[in-house]
Amino acid sequence: MRVIGTAGHVDHGKSTLVEALTGIHPDRLKEERQREMTIDLGFAWMTLPSEDADPGEEVGIVDVPGHRDFIENMLAGIGGIDAALFVIAADEGVMPQTREHLAILDLLQIQSGVVALTKIDMVYEKNLGGEDWLELVESEVRGVLQNTTLENAAIVRTSGKTGSGISQLKIALWECLSDLPPKPDLNRPRLPVDRVFSIAGFGTVLTGTLNDGQLKSGDEVVILPVGIKSRIRGLQTHKQQEATAVPGGRTAVNISGVSIDQIERGDVLAHPNTYLPSRRLDLHIRLLPDAGASIKHNSEVKFFIGASEVIARIRLLGIEEIKPGEDGWVQIELRKPVVAVRGDRFIIRRPSPGQTLGGGVVVDPQPSGRHKRFADDNLRRLEALSGGTPEEVLLQTIQTMGVLKTSDLVDKTSMDGDQVYELLPSLFESGTVIRLPAVKPAQEVRTARLSKDTLLVSKSLWQQLSSDTLRSVGSFHRKYPLKRGISREQIKSQQRAFSRYPARLFTDMMDKLAADGELVESGPFAHLPDHRIRFTESQERDIQRLIMQFSADPNSPPSVKECQAAVGEDVFAALLELAELVLVSPEVVYRRQDYQKLVSEVRAFLDKNGTITVAQARDRFQTSRKYVLALLEHLDAIGVTIREGDIRRLK
Ligand code: GDP
Repeated sequence: MRVIGTAGHVDHGKSTLVEALTGIHPDRLKEERQREMTIDLGFAWMTLPSEDADPGEEVGIVDVPGHRDFIENMLAGIGGIDAALFVIAADEGVMPQTREHLAILDLLQIQSGVVALTKIDMVYEKNLGGEDWLELVESEVRGVLQNTTLENAAIVRTSGKTGSGISQLKIALWECLSDLPPKPDLNRPRLPVDRVFSIAGFGTVLTGTLNDGQLKSGDEVVILPVGIKSRIRGLQTHKQQEATAVPGGRTAVNISGVSIDQIERGDVLAHPNTYLPSRRLDLHIRLLPDAGASIKHNSEVKFFIGASEVIARIRLLGIEEIKPGEDGWVQIELRKPVVAVRGDRFIIRRPSPGQTLGGGVVVDPQPSGRHKRFADDNLRRLEALSGGTPEEVLLQTIQTMGVLKTSDLVDKTSMDGDQVYELLPSLFESGTVIRLPAVKPAQEVRTARLSKDTLLVSKSLWQQLSSDTLRSVGSFHRKYPLKRGISREQIKSQQRAFSRYPARLFTDMMDKLAADGELVESGPFAHLPDHRIRFTESQERDIQRLIMQFSADPNSPPSVKECQAAVGEDVFAALLELAELVLVSPEVVYRRQDYQKLVSEVRAFLDKNGTITVAQARDRFQTSRKYVLALLEHLDAIGVTIREGDIRRLK
């Protein structure tokens, strides 16, 4: 679906031309009819010619007021248009709002349009000089179109009164629309509301030019920025009931349970959780050569985006002022939130006296905070975001955020989700972005499926966090050489940086470090791969002495207390960690080989005899009741034996 917007000086014949093209008089207010002046937006539609016998495409027309007092109404309707019908009365030629409207079309980067040189009957009626006059006006028009998006627009001579040139005008409009690429369907519709009214028996109706996705009857919707929830009861395009409204079309949405005073022009209707309104935007602004004055830091302007109008304070970035004809980076603070995405165009005007100053493009709709005014890295970021290839935009956004979910990346960059998913693998492959959870060794980083929850981490943040983590494990090893490793909780409590990021980041990072072999995890402890417990010479001597005591009578070894006294608590704990010693009760400990021998002998005895008692075991191992009781209870606990009264069997 397509929408054409009119533009041009007041009284130059826009509404008359729309009526001649469509048969619909677009002015809707009684006051307008009485004053013969378009004050607010008017709407009409027509079917364009087609190459074959089929009926041609239907296009909507937004007719805008030309009077300078109503320029701001014009801006509410011009935002979503595909092509301009730029109307200039042949008897008057280029007038002030001819220029102002052209400047606005150019700032909004409306790439397509047709100039209707209308009222040509008046040239003859007023005896202005016929063909010579018309050629003069045409060359004047060519002059003002130079260096604007409409530079190459066709000029068609028409008269809304006599109907002359109307069919040529239709063909010219059709030609310029058929050159345009299709309207993107990004699966997240947004409808900037340009009219709200109620119809008896139906309730509230909102209209606007639908962008970026489809709306369906029955859809749950939300009105932003306030966040009022509602449901679509019905949809109309060009007064026709439709089940689905497609991107690019003029759309009327009948919603339930919301009264008209809850909604105003400029609000945006969208699906829930698809757009986040913002009060702060990073922009690139261009000032018109005839803006009259430069923009200073902290100046206030009226900001027009979509169908909305908000007072904004401008913070200049990297410059002291923007002079007429110049451009620059700014961050604006808005009096109330707007829905904006990267790449949206906007206009700024001086509040009073009203004058169009310039406009530009949204570079970051959700900046991370208030920028320092003269920060080079921020200016570089803005440059990459505005001029970069899609890959550069993705990379820049990930680098700025450090870490974010794939779904948030799609939102922040305002890029097509499919495109984001397509481009990410090359960033993984080049190592500039790390994906978490880590892909399994058997999977290819390129082809492993991405989900909306996949975490994306910039290389620099990854390096910082992972090397800090490995370093803290290393320093733990130096501080506690007799400990095998450190628990995840302990590591995390030492790494404050993680508190700024999603909790998953730490767990996923530890998993990846382990998968990559940078850390070894055994049980609850992690250690560096080359870490070994090493004893000092004097500790080794103590250990040897202790081992000799074990050898003296392996089945009646020294108690835990005696061991700790002999080598120290730390060394004893290390011997347990190394599994040189095996603890079977709080008091009883064996050497590993002695323990293994005892266990296999108990098993052998049970294989042969079926059951064993404490007394039998005591006799078998020639030791005291204290040891065998501890050993057998330990075997019960680890599931080797099962106790039945005084006897035990194999489990
Ligand atoms: P708009 O303000 O640009 O929408 O202008 P309108 O369409 O309201 O036209 C302004 C006046 O010019 C009206 O009185 C129209 O009747 C008249 N008008 C518009 N087009 C023509 C035309 O082609 N020929 C003549 N003679 N008068 C026209």
